This record gives sequence, C-alpha cells and structure tokens, in this order.
Amino acid sequence: MLNALDSEMNAMVGRKPLEGRSAIVTGSTSGIGLAIAQALARAGAAVMLNGFGVAAEIEALRAELAEENDVDVVYDCADMSSRDAIRMMVERANARFGQIDIVVNNAGVQHVAPIGEFPAEKWDAILAINLSAAFHLVQATFDGMCGRNYGRIINVASAHGLVASPFKSAYVAAKHGMVGFTKTIALEGAEFGVTSNAICPGYVWTPLVEHQIDDQAKSHNIPRDAVIRDVFLKDQPSRRFATVEEMGALAVFLCGDLAASITGAAIPVDGGWTAH
Ligand code: NAD
Repeated sequence: MLNALDSEMNAMVGRKPLEGRSAIVTGSTSGIGLAIAQALARAGAAVMLNGFGVAAEIEALRAELAEENDVDVVYDCADMSSRDAIRMMVERANARFGQIDIVVNNAGVQHVAPIGEFPAEKWDAILAINLSAAFHLVQATFDGMCGRNYGRIINVASAHGLVASPFKSAYVAAKHGMVGFTKTIALEGAEFGVTSNAICPGYVWTPLVEHQIDDQAKSHNIPRDAVIRDVFLKDQPSRRFATVEEMGALAVFLCGDLAASITGAAIPVDGGWTAH
C-alpha cells in the first residue's frame, strides 16, 4: 500500500501542472499571446497557435515549442474577424486534441485617432477582432468545458477595459465589453468548474505598442521619446513596461486547480495604473 502510494507520489512530482490539457491561444504568433502560449506549453498543455505572420517563422516557432516542451503544438491561420473561420478552427482543434480545455482570447488590433476622424471600418474591425471573436470562440467551446467540469477562459482585455484614454474609442469600447463578457461567462460557468477571467495589462512592450508610438506622436504632435515618457508611462506608476512573461505566468496560474475560485475577475497587471 505504502509502495503504491510512493510510486503515485513520484509520478505526481514529475507531472507538469497542465499536462493532459489542451488550449487555443488566439493571436499567439507575437507579443503577449506568444508568451502565454509558451508558458502554457511549458506547463504541459497542448497548444493551438493562431495569428498572422511569415509562414516559415511561424512553423519554426511551432516546431521549437513542441520539441522543447514535448507537447503537441499546431498552428491555425483563422482570421478572428471571421465567425466561420473561428468555427473551423475549433473543429480542427477538437479533431486534433479531442477536446478544448483552455481558451485564451488574446488577438487584438488598435487604431488611434480623434473621434471626428476615426474611420468607421477601423471601428468595425476592432470590435470584431477584439470583442466579437471572443464571443464566437467561447460559444463554440463552452458546452464541452461544462460537460467535463473543467474549463478556463482567459480574455486578454487591457487597463483600457477599466479606464479610458483619448483617441482610442473603439479599443476602449471593445475592452470594456470584454470585461463585461468575462463576468457573464463566469456566472454561466461557475457551477460547472469553468472559470472566466480577464487579464488587464497596462503597457507591455510588444509590436502592438511599437506601432502605436508613431500614431500617438502624430495625434499629440510630439516626438517618440516624449510619447514613451509622457503618454505611455505617464499613468503607469511603476514607470516600466509590464512584461510578456508576467502575462504568461498569470495565465498558467489561472489555468491551475488553485485558481478554481477565481472567476469573473478583471485582473490589472499595470504597475498600479488603474489604482489611481
Ligand atoms: P501584437 O501585435 O504583438 O500581437 C497581436 C496578435 O494578434 C498577433 O499574433 C497578430 O497576428 C494577431 N492578430 C491580429 N489580427 C488578427 C486577426 N484578425 N486574426 C487572428 N489573429 C490576429 O500585440 P500584443 O501587444 O501582444 O497584444 C495582444 C493582446 O494584448 C491584444 O488583445 C491587446 O489589445 C492586449 N493588450 C496589449 C497591451 C500592450 O501594451 N501591448 C496592453 C493591454 C492589452
């Protein structure tokens, strides 16, 4: 009896926390999504990558992640602005992994302009990719999670899901919507072991931020270094960019058993920005 217990304990010691779980991470060819996909794979989860980029570079990323962590990693090129593409991505993930336990809605785009000049097509695209995609993906995976009594939905919102900034009407609207959606799904999933939480990063240095620097410089009519100091880090009391690794670590924690009671939360990772 003692021996059987010992060998079970030994097996458990070598076990990674998310072994046997499978995840879809949208927008994971770059930035925060990539770091979350890497962290989940390191924790033992099989991962479906998604997002845009150079095919050969994405394949190199996929192969490296699979080999280094000894997990199944696949890539799907679904465009998050297309409901049909999202449905097909879920079908392919189910066919490959058998089930989907973790969904990370991370894909996002940004456009910065005063409301009078904000292009309507940018509004539509931002709402579709940053908000509606999460609805379609959760709708296609939620019942399966509930049926198995385990599920983790992580929505990468933003500090802009909690507070606003000028010139970002569509982004702020979509991210506030994401936080509300997160809470609703938390209530619907609570008794079935399915949690739903939003990660709300402050500024994290990624290609998305890099692209905004020039847009902001134009909108505010100031140079790039002034944008970094006086716009990006002005309200972030830590005076440093948050890191993609911090996002990955939080995502892994939220997927674990010890986070079973954390649901419906919008968790700021913003160096104190939204504590103002
Ligand atoms: P990023 O530009 O580095 O990555 C965005 C990812 O989304 C890429 O993989 C890209 O290919 C993918 N993507 C874009 N459009 C897509 C589409 N139509 N279909 C599928 N994939 C698509 O950006 P990031 O900074 O890593 O941002 C990731 C998420 O984090 C976004 O939702 C963003 O709003 C949020 N966020 C970022 C910051 C920050 O400071 N970087 C702060 C708060 C929130």
